[in-house]
Amino acid sequence: MKVETIAVLTSGGDAPGMNTCVRAVVRSACAYKMKVIAVKNGLQGLIDGDFKEFGARDVAGIVHKGGTILGTARSKEFRTKRGRKKAAKNIQNAGIDALVIIGGDGSFRGGYELNKDFGIPFVGLPGTIDNDMYGTDFTIGFDTAVNTAVDAIDKIRDTAESHHRLFFVEVMGRHSGAIAVEAAIAGGAELALIPEVTTDIDALANSIVAQKKAGKKSAIIIVAEGDDAGSATEISDKVYKLIGFKGKVCVLGHIQRGGHPSARDRVLASRLGIAAVKTLKSGKSNVLVGEIKGDTALTPVTTVVRKKKKADMKKERFVRLLGT
Ligand code: ATP
Repeated sequence: MKVETIAVLTSGGDAPGMNTCVRAVVRSACAYKMKVIAVKNGLQGLIDGDFKEFGARDVAGIVHKGGTILGTARSKEFRTKRGRKKAAKNIQNAGIDALVIIGGDGSFRGGYELNKDFGIPFVGLPGTIDNDMYGTDFTIGFDTAVNTAVDAIDKIRDTAESHHRLFFVEVMGRHSGAIAVEAAIAGGAELALIPEVTTDIDALANSIVAQKKAGKKSAIIIVAEGDDAGSATEISDKVYKLIGFKGKVCVLGHIQRGGHPSARDRVLASRLGIAAVKTLKSGKSNVLVGEIKGDTALTPVTTVVRKKKKADMKKERFVRLLGT
């Protein structure tokens, strides 16, 4: 397969570092004398034919910017074969040889379905704050999101300690506790409640009482939004019913998606963006380009879509050990 024209898009939830990654893809493709088409608004942009040719100067001044200058979307239409057929037609009409899809698990699956149905080659780059993609140790945006959460937890700790309060801090993670665990360790939280572990409300309430008796004057419990016991507010209410002790709730929400990407995310995004272009240049496609144990790693699409990455359970145990 000879790849002369590539299209780049960002899809799914926006993540800090997506712009850095777009810049790396565009600039390295230009260095390899490839033509680059930027697609607006993710996979929906393929259906709408929302294309614009990009040169090296079109990605100036974005290395540090949060969000995505290309726009992103969650496209219902792309989930249908009819929608994907429209996308394939636009791709072929524009002379695009392969796609670079920067996004999460769902976006990658979208690329897989498009390839399966219409043979459009693609590479996926892991752009999501969730760090839940198989085939990479870290996703682009995760480090920034964790740092944003830790910054908030540090501030909450000031008021929690001053007023001797219990706080439930809800962080993002519908299916993964990765942000919760990492932020809990770095923020010195007492516990992290995550989707990967069943939450026992009685045990949670007992541990809060026990820690209070042992002299803890305040406590911070991190709740991943997808925890099986409910939202931070629901968990706080359930605990209150058991021990009559009201916890304050702080939902960090979308602030975790925004902001300048951390240096680490920028380096990861740059490295993986270059690797994606090199992969296509060498004739390979239908892989996730990730980083495993410090090296760039290509994982076949069929493996990525079959496997799920869970939060690191060793780290979850660190939280329990250190939060006593
Ligand atoms: P994040 O991790 O930030 O949520 P994501 O890429 O996982 O990002 P999704 O909303 O799950 O976000 O997926 C993005 C888009 O990918 C969807 O809106 C849809 O258009 C497409 N997509 C997801 N799953 C499929 C599928 N099975 N078939 C076709 N398209 C899909």
